Amino acid sequence: MPDDAIEALHDLLDRAGSIVAFTGAGISTESGVPDFRTPGSPWMVNKPIPFEAFVRSREARIEAWRRKFAMDDHYADAVPNIGHRALARLVGEGRSPAIITQNIDGLHQASGVPDDRVIELHGNGTYATCLTCGWRHELAAIRPVFEATGEPPDCLICAGPVKSATVSFGQAMPQDKMSRAQQLALEAELFLVVGSSLVVYPAATLPIIAKKQGARLVIVNREPTELDAIADLVVRAEIRAVLGRLAG
Ligand SMILES: [Zn+2]
Repeated sequence: MPDDAIEALHDLLDRAGSIVAFTGAGISTESGVPDFRTPGSPWMVNKPIPFEAFVRSREARIEAWRRKFAMDDHYADAVPNIGHRALARLVGEGRSPAIITQNIDGLHQASGVPDDRVIELHGNGTYATCLTCGWRHELAAIRPVFEATGEPPDCLICAGPVKSATVSFGQAMPQDKMSRAQQLALEAELFLVVGSSLVVYPAATLPIIAKKQGARLVIVNREPTELDAIADLVVRAEIRAVLGRLAG
């Protein structure tokens, strides 16, 4: 370990007709994106504002945007790493239909995976949307106005509140994305967990769905996870070391 485990992983990858990757914070920490649960993480002083408060209070919206841009400064320069590139290659070669992710950093798309092949269960922090009409708003346009006026952004189309396109605490999980993720889990021959400790719902349920319908389950994570006991293979190592060979 982990060399034997890495060999076993590549053997499973070579034999699988359809690989579905499920990624969490661990793949992006290797690009310098802070993990929400790491002690001392900048998330601790910039905790996301719960959805209910954001909708109810203008003051909460101002604070939410202040924290959002403070966090952006921690990983504005983050670029995809070998792990992202390895998974992008699986998609590019037609070996994987899509990537399911808990991450909001857009690094799978930045590594070359088409937008419609990244299922973002927690949304995307690289742009914003109007909560009323759904119109997309760009952060590059919002930030200078927010910093100059201190006013939270309103929609140019309908004047509704504009929020980072992430799924906040208390905000409903996007049903269409959940349905698609479940379908992908049902159809996978190999379900590959990368960098998730599998504790946040629905992270824990998707590998179980895949496993129940007969998929091989592989977990690549530095720490033990909730589902190691049912996995066909667990590789406990740096993601870049495990997936490096795939990235080519
Ligand atoms: Zn609107």
